[in-house]
Amino acid sequence: MKVLKFGGTSVGSALRMKDVAKLICDGNEKIVVLSAMSGTTNNLVEIADYFYKMNSSGALEKINLLEQKYLDVVDSLYKNKIYREEAIKTIKSIFDYLRSFSKSVFTLFEERAILAQGEILSTNLFHYYLLEQGENVALLPALEFMRIDKNAEPDTAFIAENIEKLLAAHPDKTIYITQGYICRNFYGEIDNLQRGGSDYSASLIGAAVKADEIQIWTDIDGMHNNDPRFVEGTQPVPFLHFEEAAELAYFGAKILHPTCILPAKLNNIPVRLLNTMQPQAAGTLISMQSKKGSLQAVAAKDGITAIKIKSGRMLLAHGFMRKVFEIFESYQTAIDMITTSEVGVSITIDNTKRLDEILNSLKKLGTVSVDKDMVIICVVGDLPSQNIGFQAKAVDALKEIPIRMISYGGSNYNISFLIKAVDKKPALMALSKGLFS
Ligand code: ADP
Ligand code: ASP
Ligand code: MG
Repeated sequence: MKVLKFGGTSVGSALRMKDVAKLICDGNEKIVVLSAMSGTTNNLVEIADYFYKMNSSGALEKINLLEQKYLDVVDSLYKNKIYREEAIKTIKSIFDYLRSFSKSVFTLFEERAILAQGEILSTNLFHYYLLEQGENVALLPALEFMRIDKNAEPDTAFIAENIEKLLAAHPDKTIYITQGYICRNFYGEIDNLQRGGSDYSASLIGAAVKADEIQIWTDIDGMHNNDPRFVEGTQPVPFLHFEEAAELAYFGAKILHPTCILPAKLNNIPVRLLNTMQPQAAGTLISMQSKKGSLQAVAAKDGITAIKIKSGRMLLAHGFMRKVFEIFESYQTAIDMITTSEVGVSITIDNTKRLDEILNSLKKLGTVSVDKDMVIICVVGDLPSQNIGFQAKAVDALKEIPIRMISYGGSNYNISFLIKAVDKKPALMALSKGLFS
């Protein structure tokens, strides 16, 4: 069994949905995970925001506009009156549900329920379309098997047990469609796997059914060696090790959700990144195999804050690091990068919700300074310490860029640089020139 995930652009119009249908209808059994049509989740976020601000008329205006967009899709998607009417009925009921929030108190709970409707819409429309085409297809509701626990971590045992049950309930089907991104939480409420989380859904499902392959179909021909939104002439990377792909995803390569590689890696399921608009392109194959002796790709993670703690008493002061880490732990803030010297330690974080409390606590340990608007540039490749020269190449490529921190040796696959946000584009361009041209 293969799991294929199609992102927002890949199902972004009636025409695109028809192309996806052509791609997947080959008689082989598969699970197809869909995102919401492109733009929809952003629209739903805006609608929720209007409700939060108690601006019901603003919300209703947005809802009606979005509903019209879906009715237009129906016009171009179906030929058969029966499926057209079924689709219109589904759309009406989902949009009536959205409108009903104007009469209730609005909390995070209602917001999550609203955000889930994008994937519910796209999968229903696509399901009706495949039925119209005479395909042997079933729609599996993600809310019946995708669940996160108290710590917002996927409940893998529950997911595996319940998806198996649903599959077993439809034994004669060839194509199983389900929603990416959406899930239930520990309390049974509707929740989600964070923005871009459909990739994560696909790999969790792949792991649950022990798939032979997970395919992430998107709008570009694989993982490129640099961010195509900032650098021209980037090239697809044919093969990546799981660890390399995970580093790139975590450090900003938007093509993959940061956590999506882990379930695939744990179960040794290859992940293929493919382009819906160019299905013949080889894309990127992510597996246990790594390409020896080269640097593979570069990514950048925005919104980083660097904190430096200087303490005259740090030299040989055992327990100092523990105290520092405990402060971050107690405010549930993950650390991305660390560098140390005799007199101090620099740490970066991307979640600044508890920054003031963290700083107040750190001040008890020494002098604290903060740099905001920073970016982590991550260079990924075959980088164990015996491979001399690669880190020198990366540092040399960045010789014109002021560097605040460097981290090397945390894994065999990554070297990270902390720079100012204003230097991001020149740094990415310099790395493409220095490493890949
Ligand atoms: P989807 O909606 O299919 O999930 P995304 O927009 O989330 O698609 O991810 C695909 C986009 O990721 C590409 O269009 C590209 O702009 C961006 N991207 C950023 N870094 C990279 C990279 N290194 N390689 C490929 N794409 C990248
Ligand atoms: N629709 C969700 C989003 O836009 C999830 C996804 O596309 O992966 O974030
Ligand atoms: Mg995505």
